[in-house]
Amino acid sequence: MITKMQQDLTDKACRILPVCSICQQVPDKGIRDGIMIKKVFICCSCEIRIVNLSVDSVNYNEVINRIKAIGIML
Ligand SMILES: [Zn+2]
Repeated sequence: MITKMQQDLTDKACRILPVCSICQQVPDKGIRDGIMIKKVFICCSCEIRIVNLSVDSVNYNEVINRIKAIGIML
């Protein structure tokens, strides 16, 4: 007998959803709502954040550190 919770877990495991390496979020539109760089997925909102990133941005260092941590060279 499969409980509701077990069924939910199975559903989640079967779905291939990309998790953004920067913000750890799964975009609503899945893989189409972002880009893959060296097998690393980045969602559209983070892509825009990186592209528009300037040295005086509040989150500049945070974003740069995350990019370094996942080994992407942009
Ligand atoms: Zn993201």
